[in-house]
This record gives sequence, C-alpha cells and structure tokens, in this order.
Amino acid sequence: MGDGGDAGRGVRLVLLGAPGSGKGTQAARLAAWGDVPNISTGEMLRQAVGEGSELGRRVRDIMAAGELVDDATMADVVRERLAAPDAAQGFVLDGFPRTLAQVTELDSILEAAGRGLDAVVAIEVPEAVLTQRMLDRKRQDGRDDDKREVIEERLRVYRSKTEPLAEHYRRRGLLRVVDGDREMDAVTESILRALAVEA
Ligand code: AMP
Repeated sequence: MGDGGDAGRGVRLVLLGAPGSGKGTQAARLAAWGDVPNISTGEMLRQAVGEGSELGRRVRDIMAAGELVDDATMADVVRERLAAPDAAQGFVLDGFPRTLAQVTELDSILEAAGRGLDAVVAIEVPEAVLTQRMLDRKRQDGRDDDKREVIEERLRVYRSKTEPLAEHYRRRGLLRVVDGDREMDAVTESILRALAVEA
C-alpha cells in the first residue's frame, strides 16, 4: 500500500464512517502506513466485554442493542489510551468521536497534550450497501450486533448522532470525504491521495 517511506509517519487521524463502511479496515491500513497505533474504541470495548471487566460488564448490553456507550465513559477510555507511550507519535482513531460531546472531549484531550488532528476522513457508502455488508459480516464472524434489527438501530444512531460530526469538521477545514463504495484498495488509495494533496 502507498509508496512506503515516511510519508504518513506521526499522522493524527480520525476516521468517520457508518457501521459497514469499511472504516475498520481502512483504519488498520492507515495506521500501518503512518506507523502509529490503530485505536478502535469498538475493539477495546469488545475486548473488555470478552474479559468480563468492570467496563465490559457495564457496556455489554448497550453494545448488543446497538446503542452508544455514554460520553464520559468513552472519554475516559480514550484519554487513557492516548496517554500510552505508543500514541505519542500519532494515532488513527476508529469509532471515536461519535457524538459532538465526544468531539469536545477529544479536543480537550489533544489540547492538554499540545497536539491537534491532521485530518478527519469520512468514508461514504450508500445505506443499502451498508446493510448488506453487515449481514455478510454476521455470517462470517458472528458479531452479535450484526443482527438485522441491531444493524438498523446502529445506522439510525449513526445518522442522528455521528453524521453531524462531518459538517463540524468540514467547518474546521479538517474533513476529507472519500467514496467507500469501491474495492478496499481503491478506497485506501483515495484516502492517501486526499491526505497528501489536501492535508
Ligand atoms: P464499532 O466497532 O466502532 O462499530 O463499535 C461497536 C459498539 O461499541 C458501538 O455500537 C457502541 O455500542 C460502542 N462504541 C464504540 N465506540 C463508541 C463511542 N465512541 N461512543 C459510544 N459508543 C461506542
């Protein structure tokens, strides 16, 4: 992927995209490109649920219903993760922020560390494609929030709570929009182009 070299080193990115948009895949690729940690709050929470930790027990039912975990909990999770040494040189955030309140939390976490975001990448995919992809994913890896009712709820939550973040970041000049209804490699290339040209 990409041109190798140090082009992405130290990058600080947020990925926005509906469930099923391919955001997780692209986040992992961008993190490898930038040699920075891929911070997926969904993965962190699923791990907590798997371990049966206090956090996991608190969020399990919320996740299974396709609802959002409260902003204060998420801010704590992300603050702690971004304070780890491996995030000092940069990061790709996948799944956070998801609400305008989380945007404010992220701003204050980064401000306290004297850092800012380089860009926010929004991956756009038509709704019918999203639903189909998530149903396929359920068949493959059996994620229990990929049931049809839960998928619909997650898309509803995304539209009402998370989609407004794109406009917010557009106004701040950080947004890069990419068409996600294509092969994964083509999407990755567009993202890298958008970052190189406009960042
Ligand atoms: P994801 O893998 O990003 O789709 O996240 C799976 C689930 O974890 C979501 O449906 C939420 O229940 C929860 N979650 C992950 N990140 C956040 C966040 N930033 N705010 C609230 N809930 C979250």
